[in-house]
Amino acid sequence: MLMYMDLDRFKYVNDSLGHHAGDNLLFLVGQRLREVVPHAGMIARQGGDEFIVLLSGKDDVLQVEAIAQRLVDALSQSFTVFDKQIYVGASIGIVRLPEDAQDMVSAMRYADICLYRAKKSGKGCYRLWDRSYLQDSTPERIQIESELREGIERGELILHYQPKVNAVAGELHSLEALVRWQHPRLGLIYPDSFIGIAEESNLIVELDRWVIAAVAEQQLAWRKQGLVIVPVSLNVSASHITRADLVLLFAQILNEHPELANYIEVELTETAIMADPDQATISLNHLLHLGVKSSVDDFGSGYTSLGYLKKLNANTLKIDRTFIDDITEDGYDRDVAKAIIALANSLSMEVVAEGVETKAQWDLLASFGCQYLQGYYFSKPKPAEEIARLLASQK
Ligand SMILES: [Mg+2]
Repeated sequence: MLMYMDLDRFKYVNDSLGHHAGDNLLFLVGQRLREVVPHAGMIARQGGDEFIVLLSGKDDVLQVEAIAQRLVDALSQSFTVFDKQIYVGASIGIVRLPEDAQDMVSAMRYADICLYRAKKSGKGCYRLWDRSYLQDSTPERIQIESELREGIERGELILHYQPKVNAVAGELHSLEALVRWQHPRLGLIYPDSFIGIAEESNLIVELDRWVIAAVAEQQLAWRKQGLVIVPVSLNVSASHITRADLVLLFAQILNEHPELANYIEVELTETAIMADPDQATISLNHLLHLGVKSSVDDFGSGYTSLGYLKKLNANTLKIDRTFIDDITEDGYDRDVAKAIIALANSLSMEVVAEGVETKAQWDLLASFGCQYLQGYYFSKPKPAEEIARLLASQK
């Protein structure tokens, strides 16, 4: 069996902590792999942050899956590099030999496609080779990357805005900007299909910069139309949050347009923050100082140290939508959502529930003290023109 794995946030460790830290981390990853699969025929670093593990005589699917899961779990635990806790995580593509591939060249190619599949379905998981994957393979990924680069330059990206409402009356409170790609051939493409690819290249930084500038422009345009604007949050990627140029970009915009202070906010996922909590803390505090509040997005899905939560000075917790989906039926989800709301309240943070689709979910969340709600029950993400009408009706 061939396992081809790639660390999920290595580039980010290298960029923010330097190559020494990166090298140290690779060594520790190698060590941990040896601990988890001591009987592997071979464990090798393939280059960059990619590792290969070869195991013989373990081709029973259940056994293969058990080993893959042990590896994913082991690599999702923290590593200590230069006294810092780092969460890097890994995705794995698996090819069984010789059932799936008879030669090493196709084995590697299939493993790469599986790995890409694992990354695409959210990282931190594994995928076993399936012949149907052949239709969706590497060329598509390279094509999307180069087309997206041109798409940004040609102005093919657009923003839709989804309202967040207050839980008492369901009235508009603020908006979240969500990016879409108006592809000339394929039509409207949702971020799930391209953010992952952008994140693996530096394109994500360009994309984030475009979003930030576009939100600022839109807010100014709405004001110019005489509308009373509300805060708009935008999503910043993990690889961007620790870069000094992010804070600088906001500083420039707010210096030119001080009237936008408190009207642009950032959302950063819990996983992105915890990849480098010290740097995230510095960036978010800088932003707050400039008048840019922040939300911890998808909260509850990762591992936050509660000590950091206070230091971040984030304004808002957004409960991960997986807890909201079944909140009316599932006691566990209900308890987690309730606990997050209580936590937010006790830290004097605001709390938003995402993915609200029914009145029953609204009532339950409101009864737990959740202040703000977002989801299809209230509104889908909408183009700027429709939001303008909504803002006008608020007056
Ligand atoms: Mg978000």
